[in-house]
Amino acid sequence: MSRLDILSPATPVDFQVPVSFPGSPGFRDTPVLDRPEDSSSVHEKSDFTVDEGEAEKIFASLPPLHRGHPDVHLRNGIMNASRKATENKINAEKAFFVADLGQVYRQHQRWLQCMPDIEPFYAVKCNPDPYVLRLLAALGAGFDCASNGEIAKVLALGGVEPDRIVFANPCKATSFIRSAAKVGVDKMTFDNEDELYKIARTHPEAKLIVRILADDSKSVCRFGVKFGAPLEVVPRLLMKARELHLDVIGVSFHVGSGCYDPTIYDDAVRRARDAFHMGARVGYQFSLLDVGGGFEDEHLETAASVLTRAIQRYFPDRTGIKVIAEPGRYYVSRAFSLATNIIARRAPMSEGSSEQEGVSDLKTEDPRVMYYINDGVYGAFNCIMFDHQVVTPHVLSMNGSFHLSGAVAMSASSVWGPTCDSLDQVCKSVMLPSGLQVGDWLGWHEMGAYTICAASQFNGFELSEVVYTTSKGGEKVREVLRRIAADGYGHGEM
Ligand SMILES: *Cc1c(COP(=O)(O)O)cnc(C)c1O
Repeated sequence: MSRLDILSPATPVDFQVPVSFPGSPGFRDTPVLDRPEDSSSVHEKSDFTVDEGEAEKIFASLPPLHRGHPDVHLRNGIMNASRKATENKINAEKAFFVADLGQVYRQHQRWLQCMPDIEPFYAVKCNPDPYVLRLLAALGAGFDCASNGEIAKVLALGGVEPDRIVFANPCKATSFIRSAAKVGVDKMTFDNEDELYKIARTHPEAKLIVRILADDSKSVCRFGVKFGAPLEVVPRLLMKARELHLDVIGVSFHVGSGCYDPTIYDDAVRRARDAFHMGARVGYQFSLLDVGGGFEDEHLETAASVLTRAIQRYFPDRTGIKVIAEPGRYYVSRAFSLATNIIARRAPMSEGSSEQEGVSDLKTEDPRVMYYINDGVYGAFNCIMFDHQVVTPHVLSMNGSFHLSGAVAMSASSVWGPTCDSLDQVCKSVMLPSGLQVGDWLGWHEMGAYTICAASQFNGFELSEVVYTTSKGGEKVREVLRRIAADGYGHGEM
């Protein structure tokens, strides 16, 4: 027996409708309250339910904004799904995200607290969610865009001046540089000579930032193999820029995405200082230091203190130098949770309904039960392939109930996506309750970064939709969103 971590008992809600579908082994008509094994859990009805009437429509082009804790909306989504299932609605059990904009807001406050002197330019590629972009625009953040599509998306919000955008892709298509020039996006990075010729031809007024190579060996996703000029070539690059009459205004680096050792920022800032000196030698007086992305939720304070100290050490006289950063993952990772439905199950024939067995199979290396869920590595879980993530599920609902007693039999299980590709494996081996059935729901936290944005519809599976809510800090979120809506921006296309 092992303890199972599920939704907190402080927020109990019981299903009144069966969660699984007629014909499935998990189907039951009777309320789960009758289950004897539930006797240990809390049963009183709480007021932790959400009145749908409270959802607020701030932008006509976006889904409404709810209130309340994301867990409530995960449950509501599951109850809605089961209601739809009883009405035989198509795709009733569809997977869905719950996004908590209150979390994005709190991350921003935390950033301002830790690094008041470093302006965040949110890396759009990480999650170009329409609400996230609007909220960050309303809060005054800048944006790091890598393509003219991303630039168009940010400008379409209506309230972001082009100087709040940095075109932070050192290798851009010529047509993209031209269209950046057209819309007034001047700040852009480069790390090679060819890029300088392209920019000189198509956007001679650009404000250039030389992207230098940083040590990315302490990051999950390393960028150094693709981008960044080694310091030894920087003097020649800057000389070439001079020759082409280009305006270089500063230096940027990226320590790699998912940086687990923030002390690496110190070395990167030191290299940037050297690049500032190289600029001075060819006659540039740089005014911008861009410390890139890589910030992790759990390391933000450490990264902030390393960076702050490094900037003090290597740039003791900061007058005339603006410092910006390009955080992506940090802002959104924890703000999105995903709910997936178990659409199929394959278990050893003899096992039958293992709920009564009462024995735990603790050998995780040898999963015996296979669960198939309705999102996978071709969808939101592409983060497993592209972003080297390891994901772990928790049980959202089981056998028509949000309650699980503290001790249930567990089995080593594997979890698979819905497509016909065997590569579509979400968890190789994870301990899950032996009693899980088709129709039950698994939840996944920290699904906000590099998930939705790279999801495909391979094999005909639709992308999972997002339900938006605001937990703690929600009043402030709604206030800033209402304000930009009233100012007339944020109404553009999603
Ligand atoms: C991907 C990327 C970022 C964001 O990185 P995170 O690790 O998500 O913070 C920032 N800047 C550039 C140039 C990037 O390519």
